[in-house]
Amino acid sequence: MQALRDRLARITDLNHSAAILEWDQETYMPEGAEESRARQVATLRSFSHELLTDDKTSRLLESASPESEIDIDLIRVTRKDVEKATRVPASLIGKMAVASGRSKGAWQKARATNTFSIFAPHLANIVDLTIEHAEALGYQDTPYDALLDLYEEGMTTAEVTRVFADLKDRLVLVVKTIAAAPAISNAAVHGNFRHDAQWAFGVQVAKQLGYDFHCGRQDTSAHPFSTAFSITDVRITTRVDPTFFNPGFFGTLHEAGHAMYEQGIDMALEGTPLADGTSLGIHESQSRLWENLIGRSLPFWKHYFPQAQKAFPEALGKVDLNTFYRSANTVAPSLIRVEADEVTYNLHIMLRFELEQDLIRGKISVEDLPREWNDRMENWLGIRPSNDSDGVLQDIHWSLGAIGYFPTYALGNLMSTQLFDAAKRAIPDLDSKTERGDFSDLLQWLRKSVHHHGRRKSSGQILKDATGSDLSADSWMQYVHAKFGDLYGF
Ligand code: ZN
Repeated sequence: MQALRDRLARITDLNHSAAILEWDQETYMPEGAEESRARQVATLRSFSHELLTDDKTSRLLESASPESEIDIDLIRVTRKDVEKATRVPASLIGKMAVASGRSKGAWQKARATNTFSIFAPHLANIVDLTIEHAEALGYQDTPYDALLDLYEEGMTTAEVTRVFADLKDRLVLVVKTIAAAPAISNAAVHGNFRHDAQWAFGVQVAKQLGYDFHCGRQDTSAHPFSTAFSITDVRITTRVDPTFFNPGFFGTLHEAGHAMYEQGIDMALEGTPLADGTSLGIHESQSRLWENLIGRSLPFWKHYFPQAQKAFPEALGKVDLNTFYRSANTVAPSLIRVEADEVTYNLHIMLRFELEQDLIRGKISVEDLPREWNDRMENWLGIRPSNDSDGVLQDIHWSLGAIGYFPTYALGNLMSTQLFDAAKRAIPDLDSKTERGDFSDLLQWLRKSVHHHGRRKSSGQILKDATGSDLSADSWMQYVHAKFGDLYGF
């Protein structure tokens, strides 16, 4: 058992070292170092892959005698990791790396020049390789199951289809109702929000929510993210727009939510593959919970608005709480996913989920994509992109070969309200605590119900144990009706 633990600790160290290099690449690395850095990361990652798939790891897994419940879980989870890592031939992994390297460049050029045809042949190649990848991984019903499982272990296409189908009609109706209601001005979140004041305010609030800066830090990057190098070193990045409050502040809360998850993992799991988020959906449920269910709520701003007014006197000095709260929560159908509001966001995801499946099944071809994209946008959101850069070319994911990833964003939204409802049942005065800026009970509940377990529990198990129910769209729809029904009068 100890020999197995030692070996897994080395693999974990290699992966985390690669992650430090990747973090540096997005924050401080000079541009000229791109090629050498790519090589260094690849060296560490392939070394870690070799150690994991080596016969010695399998022999240790067979012969180890577990001494605790954690050991039993460690063996079970690592067996699965090894199995997944060995099912895909090295030649296919190599082909996928080369394809996505080329495809990323083509996508950037296609997006910058609004020319889908530059990206199309690369995407067609990615789709072919993705199907090959799914076949190698194996699946129960449909190749898409294997892809989903890479990001949301145990989730099936049938399950996501069931939940999304339930959500779609109800949500399209809400979006149409809001679009027809008098618009709410978002003027209060635009104005003079000085960069240094935004930075300080974001850090202060993240600390008060429970993000531990003794074991973390925040830096700037073009695309905000969070990353963990150990339970005691979990970092976030952000991007500040000095004329617009939302991206910097809510982005900071979002990434802090991801980081608090990793900081809350049981220290007994440190140095093992169990010390990680259990799925991307659960991860996103944590970021969305702090960003939206807490950070965009009225109780939260009852506490923080006076401080925000002091921090941003030019922009907020003459604004009242209610105007600010409404301004930070406006809903309007828009073309770009990453700029979408809480309500319309899930429709952007469902669009991608349908298109990905149609591509993998061969129901539509890559050439059909721009038209299919625009038609469905128009049907669901009532708006049509005037160019492909604002449509089918907007996301980087497909160029990287990440097909099956998008659904986890929407699953995270649904899980966030399910977990929040359960937290409210456990902490009846949660709203008044939030109004006082006291988040300790909520964080403690999340630690105990979600964070602590690392990968010992699957996302389905966490949800079931914490909420008593399976994944469903009901709780999120109720949240949307209550909050936005109030704001938009329906
Ligand atoms: Zn996120």
